[in-house]
Amino acid sequence: IRRLLRLTSERRKKILQVDNLDVFYDQLQAVKNVSFEVKKGELVTIIGANGAGKTTILRTLMGLQKCARGSIKFMDQEITLTLPFVRARIGISIVPEGRRIFPDLTVEQNLMMGAYTRVDRNGIANDLKKIFQLFPVLKERRKQVGKTLSGGEQQMLTIGRALMAKPKLLLMDEVSMGLMPIIVEETFKVIKDLHQQGLTILLVEQNARKALSIADRGYVIETGKIVLSGTAEALLSNPAVKKAYLGG
Ligand code: ATP
Repeated sequence: IRRLLRLTSERRKKILQVDNLDVFYDQLQAVKNVSFEVKKGELVTIIGANGAGKTTILRTLMGLQKCARGSIKFMDQEITLTLPFVRARIGISIVPEGRRIFPDLTVEQNLMMGAYTRVDRNGIANDLKKIFQLFPVLKERRKQVGKTLSGGEQQMLTIGRALMAKPKLLLMDEVSMGLMPIIVEETFKVIKDLHQQGLTILLVEQNARKALSIADRGYVIETGKIVLSGTAEALLSNPAVKKAYLGG
């Protein structure tokens, strides 16, 4: 069965192809010749320490950061120079680091902001319903302003807002950072469910153990370079990964 599954996943279509990406902040090179891919329906994680370049990669994929060299293809289309709102419209959505919400807008208004590039009113209303099913707490608090939510609720809101764009590829940046363990559990359960429902996800995480426990494949990044890649299973049992990222 495992071989069959592997064969099927090899045949799966690539949704994202990144080749030889270089990103600089002035003189400092934060991303060095990075290449990776994500196939349709996959949950792929990029793990690495603080400052390794994970956020920079996601921001570059969204078009929020310029790359000096390299190419980004989304569904066979070259998007390396495409503006962020166009990337959003063609199906890339990001859950930013640090639970950035609109503090003075209500939960419902925050969610609607996620749908700003969409024009299908019925689809939007439908997706809002689905998100309230996924996060009942957001429904309860739909009229409450964002800044009054707890950290965990704000995290759910950023995920819900990203989903309102109806993404084909969801980028998630350090969703576990600064949350209580029980909320981290809940958040990872939601990610796993979304993946099982067929959503393609690229998750960057410092929490390697948690990320690899739900991912199909992973890449390890150290000071801007990808140094290892493989199935989540293989990475979890890799001695170097164990030593550096899983606490020995
Ligand atoms: P973290 O988990 O802490 O967010 P990260 O793996 O996401 O880390 P990045 O935030 O991508 O890492 O940072 C990569 C490198 O680029 C670091 O050395 C960081 O100091 C540097 N860097 C990030 N943002 C900027 C910026 N706006 N200006 C200058 N240097 C930056």
